[in-house]
Amino acid sequence: MSRDERVLHLVRYLRQVMDHLDLPEAFIAEVDRLLAQGPEAAPALEELLARHPLTKAWMRKALWPKAIRYRPLPGEPASPPARGYCCPVAGCPAPPYIPFQAGEPIPPCPLHRAPLEPCAAPNR
Ligand SMILES: [Zn+2]
Repeated sequence: MSRDERVLHLVRYLRQVMDHLDLPEAFIAEVDRLLAQGPEAAPALEELLARHPLTKAWMRKALWPKAIRYRPLPGEPASPPARGYCCPVAGCPAPPYIPFQAGEPIPPCPLHRAPLEPCAAPNR
């Protein structure tokens, strides 16, 4: 997966919680417009997100090469858990983050900046 595809994957996740962040409507509309263009719009998306402090800080953490990574334990399948990664804060509206490959840095929660944890089984 190229860097552009990775940026797109992250922005699609971030877009799901943008309505909970204090962002201008025009900013979100521009994100939607660029997202619709596909991977070639990734550089423009990165540039756009760098213009707002909330999204800039999150993207920096999400793209940081030393971020927490999904690493399978010996004997475990190499694919990331299908349930994804959840925010540890109770009642957080952010959906689970589904990694696209093993070894991918897991971004923090866009709303709480908390490191995401493997989601618990649904029958808690
Ligand atoms: Zn959260």
